[in-house]
Amino acid sequence: MAENKRDYYEVLGVDKSAGDDEIKKAYRKSAMKYHPDRNPGDKEAEEKFKELGEAYEVLSDADKRARYDQFGFAGVDPNYGGGAGGSGFGGFGGFGDFGDIFGEFFGGGSRRQTNYNAPRRGENVGIRLELTFEEAAFGVEKEVAAQRIENCAACNGSGSADGAVETCSQCRGTGQIRTVQNFMGMQMQSQTTCPQCSGRGKVIKNPCGTCRGKGKVRRTQKTRVKIPAGVDAGQNVRVRGEGNVGSNGGPNGDLMVEIYIKRHPIFERDGMQVYCEVPITFTQAALGGEIEVPTLDGKIKFVLPEGTQTGKLFSLSGRGIPQVNNPKRRGDHRFTVVVETPTKLTKEQKELLRQLDETLDGKSNPQRKKFFDTIKEFFD
Ligand SMILES: [Zn+2]
Ligand SMILES: [Zn+2]
Repeated sequence: MAENKRDYYEVLGVDKSAGDDEIKKAYRKSAMKYHPDRNPGDKEAEEKFKELGEAYEVLSDADKRARYDQFGFAGVDPNYGGGAGGSGFGGFGGFGDFGDIFGEFFGGGSRRQTNYNAPRRGENVGIRLELTFEEAAFGVEKEVAAQRIENCAACNGSGSADGAVETCSQCRGTGQIRTVQNFMGMQMQSQTTCPQCSGRGKVIKNPCGTCRGKGKVRRTQKTRVKIPAGVDAGQNVRVRGEGNVGSNGGPNGDLMVEIYIKRHPIFERDGMQVYCEVPITFTQAALGGEIEVPTLDGKIKFVLPEGTQTGKLFSLSGRGIPQVNNPKRRGDHRFTVVVETPTKLTKEQKELLRQLDETLDGKSNPQRKKFFDTIKEFFD
């Protein structure tokens, strides 16, 4: 997708060191030339016009331009992921004014206009939370701290120190300024965002000192999060309305808590299944009997059958991880028994084993007998 793209500087025909004005001029000039109203039905012009718009959107935004310079298309294309993600301060006051530069040059047919006073939802805020194996399995309530944008408490989000908000004198509250220009011999009306009020139509006489007139501040807020039983690593728990505050009465964003799970010394997890290994003696393996198996519910007695081989997998049904939002349903606890060969035996113990060994035959160790019978066929 990105591989066919032309470099944005090349598209606008400007140098990498070009200033904002130069970029704006270059865009205007080319956009005029390729504007769909001037080239009706011309596919090539339409493509060029789109390409220009994309290049301008990035290069006219200091933040996007910096990312483009450093990372190329990957730095500005949301499809690449990463980039601008997570708990950033993104979007705060950074309204792209692409579209407004072009204004109503051509009668406003395809103009895209930003309504600066429209309600906007706040952005989501992402944080990471590390849980123990048990917390993830059975759920937990945690207090987390996250940085988010809130309305400034000092001015109630108005941005004004004394509450006085006046209609902008320059645009008379419309947020837009119209001018008639003579461009390439044509009389054209242009409309741009009002520089005095940044398109809001209102100006604050005495800006609030706490938020410098923005009405919003960045703050670390503690929030209690209910983690449901059964969450797995990489999942997100959403806390509605605890993200960045909305604008102009828009709803707040959400807090997205990404789950990490600490390694457990004994248990491993695969979805709803828990796995562990249980060491047993070779006497237990041979004779069978009761053993204790550690599970999420504590130690559970299990009767090992006689003649259990090492590596044998057993399953305790319903002792695994609960299903998220349906905790009555649980996965299984699966364990493999591992026969531990005894070490550091005394003389007496060794003697007993020798005596035992002399009594073992093809009946007690059929696998061994079969193996050596097979070898005989090959090598004799
Ligand atoms: Zn204004
Ligand atoms: Zn304030």
